[in-house]
Amino acid sequence: KNVADKIAAGEVVDRPLSIVKELVENSIDAGATNITVEMRNGGKTYIRVTDNGSGIPEDQAELAFLRHATSKIVTDEDLSHILTLGFRGEALSSIAAVSRVELISKTADSKTGFSLKIHGGEVFEKVATGCPEGTTIIVSDLFYNTPARLKFMKSDSTESTLIIDFISRIALAYAHIKIRLINNGTILFSTNGKGDKYNNILTVYSKAVGDGLLYVYSEREDMRLEGYISRPDVSKTNKKQQLFYVNGRVINNRIMDLAVQDGYTERLFEGRYPVAYLFFTIQPELVDVNIHPNKKEVRFHRDLEVRNFIAQAIKSGLLSQQAIPQ
Ligand code: ADP
Ligand code: MG
Repeated sequence: KNVADKIAAGEVVDRPLSIVKELVENSIDAGATNITVEMRNGGKTYIRVTDNGSGIPEDQAELAFLRHATSKIVTDEDLSHILTLGFRGEALSSIAAVSRVELISKTADSKTGFSLKIHGGEVFEKVATGCPEGTTIIVSDLFYNTPARLKFMKSDSTESTLIIDFISRIALAYAHIKIRLINNGTILFSTNGKGDKYNNILTVYSKAVGDGLLYVYSEREDMRLEGYISRPDVSKTNKKQQLFYVNGRVINNRIMDLAVQDGYTERLFEGRYPVAYLFFTIQPELVDVNIHPNKKEVRFHRDLEVRNFIAQAIKSGLLSQQAIPQ
């Protein structure tokens, strides 16, 4: 096994999407209320994430990036080090090891910002620069120094679709953050950060929504469902317009699938699926989020109750026919 394969096996940085994920999560962690994500060529040649968060103090910049990167990532020893320590706390150094990174950042209490360039894990240049408060990280030429890894990336459109899907989901989950997505110089969407989920659905998924969706809401002591669903006569041939959030994270879950079907009962034809954006909140004790390492699946402890609760909420929503105007 070569070094690049090991990187893949460790899933430290396996494709442009994983970089975007890590950078955007860092921006959210930094308290950003405004995040711009820009990519070119599916993120293979260029990814930029700019935020207005806390910024990185200049004296901590190298530390954040070079925690585990040594002069050469291409030794087995370095890699096993990264892999055994795991993913957390390793994102920036792992990204820097396999690309050209520029960090531009400024904290509230520093007079000027700085720019730090790291190529293949080595500091290349560091200069003072004027910039607004917050952080920009630019990742160029992903895997330029690990040719084997380079070959594993899919087409630009495949890689960019993964990133667009991810940022779209983030935009809905974090409706209070302004999120802008730019692909090859074109703005795909820009949310207003006002916390209005429906407005964000329209902004991000305008094509799927048709003449508007119905509002669904139900709550009890230990669970709450808020959502936007299509009328029974508006349905799709696949589930691409169904998104389920549990406690703020996008998940796949069969119980929620079934609950949607139950909710529509005889009102849907075979093989048709309604549009459904469901935000489900449940007491953490009632859900197991650690059943799969990717955290995209959950298990509800009282799954029948959950299913009935969601199905009932959808039925009421359909009955009330309370449309939300566009
Ligand atoms: P982790 O997020 O697990 O701590 P990372 O490698 O992703 O590890 O980031 C390292 C550190 O760099 C973070 O802990 C944080 O202190 C700092 N950092 C990274 N991105 C940002 C950002 N956008 N704004 C402020 N600080 C950041
Ligand atoms: Mg991180």
